[in-house]
Amino acid sequence: MTTPILRSLTELRTLTRAWRLAGQSIGVVPTMGALHDGHLSLAERAKAECDRVIVTIFVNPKQFNNPDDLAKYPRTEESDAVKLAPLAVDAIWAPSGDQMYPAGFATTVSVAGLTDVLCGAHRPGHFDGVATVVTKLFLQTQADRAYFGEKDFQQLQVVRRMALDLDIPTHVVGCATVREADGLAMSSRNLRLQPQARVAAATLYRVLSDAAGQLEQGADWTALREAAADRLLATGFDEIEYLDLRATDDLRALTAPEAGARLFAACWIGGVRLIDNLPVPGQALRKRTDPVRLSA
Ligand code: AMP
Repeated sequence: MTTPILRSLTELRTLTRAWRLAGQSIGVVPTMGALHDGHLSLAERAKAECDRVIVTIFVNPKQFNNPDDLAKYPRTEESDAVKLAPLAVDAIWAPSGDQMYPAGFATTVSVAGLTDVLCGAHRPGHFDGVATVVTKLFLQTQADRAYFGEKDFQQLQVVRRMALDLDIPTHVVGCATVREADGLAMSSRNLRLQPQARVAAATLYRVLSDAAGQLEQGADWTALREAAADRLLATGFDEIEYLDLRATDDLRALTAPEAGARLFAACWIGGVRLIDNLPVPGQALRKRTDPVRLSA
């Protein structure tokens, strides 16, 4: 069965109103299309937990700080619909740019603090674009639950903060990152990697997982960070935007791991920007003792 593709808010509202009246729960999976197994895993989880599921496909111009990135972003709606068909989601919400941002549109949703660091520091306006479109998607779909990938961990935390602060009654669910066999996090941008860069790109995951393991064993982050950056550059990465150890909840920078610590990286390879993140296993973290004081 083909999934209905909705283009107008009136159509969407008619559908969601009927579902609500029937007492059915609604799950939403916001995407920018070019769907891969990472996106499909979110839709599968939504199907398992909600009566009705809407997958949204909208390449949101407001979250692109680089016009070239927006122009090159893959748009594959037909094959996206084919990939979604076996999941039997209830609707694809694929509004036009004008439907989403009609002439005169003047509102921005901006989350402070969490957006100052990591991708926020390197992509001005990006998270305003994300928070604005996700607010609209939550209100448009009237979703009870919304599914986001941990692959974009900062985005997940920003969206959680936004829903909480604005009393939007949509529960934000974080889902594990789906990876290729060699560890590379699935991403629509991977399609733009040339073969050699594609092979080298998997080093990002290996570097992060090795660093997470070494941190768990008590290694010093400053030295580890330098070695990890060198390894990335030696493998073919052109630039490291950030390689940070941060707290999961508020994303504050850490100099040593603590419970809930996470590694975050953004780097460029072959003209493509890749991001990834991994938790630092907490259970076995060595208890750090104060340095021994030799004199009083
Ligand atoms: P995007 O289309 O890239 O904006 O992503 C839409 C949603 O899919 C976001 O919540 C992403 O975090 C999530 N996502 C993207 N890649 C993956 C992945 N490899 N594993 C799990 N979720 C992902």
